[in-house]
Amino acid sequence: MSETTQPARVLVIMAHPDDPEFSAGGSIARWTSEGHEVVYALVTDGSKGTDDRAMTPPDLVALRKDEQRAAAAALGVHEIIFMGYPDGEVVPDLALRRDLVRVIRQVRPEIILAPDPQTLFTVFGTINHPDHRAVGLAAMDAIFPAARNHNYFPELLAEGLEPVYVKEVYLSGTLHPDTWIDVTATFERKIEALRAHKSQIADMDGLAGRMRERMRQTDSDPDHPVYAEAFRHLKL
Ligand SMILES: [Zn+2]
Repeated sequence: MSETTQPARVLVIMAHPDDPEFSAGGSIARWTSEGHEVVYALVTDGSKGTDDRAMTPPDLVALRKDEQRAAAAALGVHEIIFMGYPDGEVVPDLALRRDLVRVIRQVRPEIILAPDPQTLFTVFGTINHPDHRAVGLAAMDAIFPAARNHNYFPELLAEGLEPVYVKEVYLSGTLHPDTWIDVTATFERKIEALRAHKSQIADMDGLAGRMRERMRQTDSDPDHPVYAEAFRHLKL
């Protein structure tokens, strides 16, 4: 993105409502403020994301859609494709690959942001959510080679969806970062966006403090800290 001078179209493919803000909220706010257009595609409905037994899955899905729209708007994102797969049950099969190729060919992005499918255990020493891995893998399989080749899923061609050649991929939640996007100017907008996910975050001030610790670049001036989000960057 740093080398892109023209406004680009960015497709953010993630598993759950709140994943875009957690993994890349500062970068997304920066991109939209620089004039790039960002669209979200969220694979699951987030229907298992609660410990509250009084909350029914349909009510939770509706609530999380509202929260996600508010969070995205805080980052300058106004188009969200809710793909509606059941939360927690994603497998990177051909059906999901086809659905993601459809989305990619509809949105026609130059750049895609998705979870790194190689992250089994996170940098925090926890188990990565299986949906994150599955969505990352399905997204890679959709980008290459299916989205760019007319022989994959000819039924999509019949829908008028022409092949797309995605140029760059940013992988979030990675164990192999090679690119750090400076989000010092948009760090507070990331926090503001996360505040919209009220059903998911019990202690927002505590989370904001941990984010400040994790994202502060240790070699920056303590009086003028620099915050960054880490990615693995692919040029295709
Ligand atoms: Zn998630």
